[in-house]
Amino acid sequence: MRIVLVGPPGAGKGTQAKIIAGRLAIPAISTGDIFRANVGAGTPLGLEAKGYMDKGLLVPDSITIGMVRDRLADPDVAGGFLLDGFPRNVAQAEELESILVGLGTKLDVVLELVVDNDEVVKRIAGRRLCRNDSTHIFHVDFQQPKVPGVCDVCGGELYQRDDDKEETVRERLAVYERETAPIVGFYAEHGLLSTIDAMGSLDEVTERALAALADR
Ligand code: AMP
Repeated sequence: MRIVLVGPPGAGKGTQAKIIAGRLAIPAISTGDIFRANVGAGTPLGLEAKGYMDKGLLVPDSITIGMVRDRLADPDVAGGFLLDGFPRNVAQAEELESILVGLGTKLDVVLELVVDNDEVVKRIAGRRLCRNDSTHIFHVDFQQPKVPGVCDVCGGELYQRDDDKEETVRERLAVYERETAPIVGFYAEHGLLSTIDAMGSLDEVTERALAALADR
């Protein structure tokens, strides 16, 4: 299956993407993860992307689209994929369509995760990641580590992503409304959109997502 996951920052896209892709045995491709890996490794791409990311702005399409085109040409993607964080605007959605046409394929479904904005700010502003492994995720209210500031899994130091600070989160939400929300209408017109309520426990949202995908 070829899936796009869309939803505002803090909707749980990254977490759900990895779980759903695991269940369907397809790769999860997160443009945010690819950018963060490049920032961490200090590559030219990472250096270019970092300034935009720290401000909560979108990295320019001229950088992002080529990166996705390259990734979609990899052999592990031939049997299906789940895109998390791309496309982020209508120009990227149109480019994705033409990349897939070039590969002789097309999307099966776009799954939209819907959440409440105030809840999103609370979720993101309290989020803490482990310096050793960014899949070890905690929350100052909802998933407290046993020792404050220390990862339960590996003892690593917990930190807050620069773009998770409240002011930046508000900017990322505004960017979502302005630039990304229009792709929801674009995909609805193409008959590809399925929408689910992403409030609730992790497991509940996964079950809703899998049920929506099975309906396709
Ligand atoms: P995410 O992990 O998806 O929240 O992405 C983190 C940041 O990476 C975003 O705030 C953007 O600065 C950048 N980014 C990720 N995906 C894209 C994209 N498709 N287009 C432009 N910028 C992106």
